[in-house]
Amino acid sequence: MSIAQNIVQLKASLPANVTLVAVSKFHPAEALLEAYNAGQRVFGESRAQELAAKQKVLPGDIEWHFIGPLQSNKVKDIAPFIHTIHSIDSLKLLREVNKQAVKNDRIIRVLLEIHVAREESKHGLTPDECRELLQTLELASFSNIRICGLMGMATNTDDTDLIEQEFHILHELFTELKATYFKGDDHFAVLSMGMSHDYLLAIRQGSNMIRVGTSIFGEREY
Ligand SMILES: *Cc1c(COP(=O)(O)O)cnc(C)c1O
Repeated sequence: MSIAQNIVQLKASLPANVTLVAVSKFHPAEALLEAYNAGQRVFGESRAQELAAKQKVLPGDIEWHFIGPLQSNKVKDIAPFIHTIHSIDSLKLLREVNKQAVKNDRIIRVLLEIHVAREESKHGLTPDECRELLQTLELASFSNIRICGLMGMATNTDDTDLIEQEFHILHELFTELKATYFKGDDHFAVLSMGMSHDYLLAIRQGSNMIRVGTSIFGEREY
């Protein structure tokens, strides 16, 4: 099937409250344009340089999401246009995002990345580190950041029970924070979880934003 067909079919299959982030990393601008022409407007990338290069040549109404590990010194490259950063896992990074958002006179939406998978290599805060971060008084001074929710990845495994357990933990943390730290804050509403192989499980566990690459664009060539 073509990229356009994949987009149309995937979108038609999703519940209305679930946002599809088309993960286009390592795919050329033409592939994104095909998805764009099929109606897709939300794209996710994981490398700052690659994202900045694509943003320059693609339509201006694309909503760009950054989903990969982000180094502080790269924030300035995406700050002028980035819509949401999914991969916030330190106060230092938040500080830099706010600084660059102020410089560009914009509000940048961020998600806190939570580590729930078994793999060592995955980035993110543990639930306790997340709670601790939210207690930091300095957060209140970040004028140009909006914390909109959580992002997480499950272990890369065929064990669907384990995947569902991990997504469940994320959903529980999301619900807890929404009732406590973010009580009354309508912006805190995004639970970003689920990729090509596990997005159906993620939706079942309460995801409302999925990040799908391979099922739309095919295998990546690194
Ligand atoms: C690459 C990536 C995805 C998409 O993965 P697919 O398996 O291709 O759907 C989703 N989320 C993150 C954080 C990624 O790095």
